[in-house]
Amino acid sequence: MTDIEFFKDGKRIDGRTYDQLRPMEAKAGVLKNADGSGYFRFGNTIAIAGVYGPREVHPKHLENPKEAILRCTYSMASFSTTERKRPGPDRRSIEISKVTTEAIKPVLFLEEFPRTSIDVYIEIIQADASTRCAGINAASIALADAGIPMRDLVASASAGKVAGEIVLDIAGKEDTEGEVDLPVAYYPKKNLVTLLQMDGKVSFEEFEKIFDLAVNGAKKVYEVQKKALKDKYKEEVVE
Ligand code: ADP
Repeated sequence: MTDIEFFKDGKRIDGRTYDQLRPMEAKAGVLKNADGSGYFRFGNTIAIAGVYGPREVHPKHLENPKEAILRCTYSMASFSTTERKRPGPDRRSIEISKVTTEAIKPVLFLEEFPRTSIDVYIEIIQADASTRCAGINAASIALADAGIPMRDLVASASAGKVAGEIVLDIAGKEDTEGEVDLPVAYYPKKNLVTLLQMDGKVSFEEFEKIFDLAVNGAKKVYEVQKKALKDKYKEEVVE
């Protein structure tokens, strides 16, 4: 157990209410050299994604004659954490790359681009919990920005349990000292959850509450993502 005080006057350590996300910021088209790109921030967690493709597959034997292959690569920058993160892939980033790919796949028309690859590179610039969610949010914006046909955007947020209370978008001390973290990715038009992970233990009733809170958070993220894409085109018209 911990003696850290997580709540005061109905608010959390950073002043948020229990069902409040951190301040969000999103942008489309932040990189010049990628076919499409996106930026997404939840408080101190910052993700940037760059998309290349549909393009020729390397290595060629991975080519699929029926559809494009989607490859999402998640990576944390060495300077993204308080202690320098050892560069290169590790177990955690390989897992997050895989679940991110699976979370995004359902919204893409991969069958329209056989024998190609769509490569999404996600870089976590600053990490303060929910980096996989921020990465998925940036990647969805980047795919849309690349002009890749999509059924919808995928929006992601996490909720959890801290000192016995159910809260949205765990961050800072809540992450290191919290009991449960449950990230979801959500496909709004179909009301489908495309990613669901959880660490820690909860009762079924608590699980339902945490899950609903995370999905509601993802719905708010979705609005921010759509605005980022619309804003890019508004700016282009003005130019
Ligand atoms: P997520 O970032 O999606 O919540 P985790 O639950 O695995 O994924 O990680 C929680 C947080 O722990 C990260 O957001 C980051 O702030 C911190 N963290 C993860 N890996 C490292 C690392 N190698 N070094 C320092 N901090 C890390």
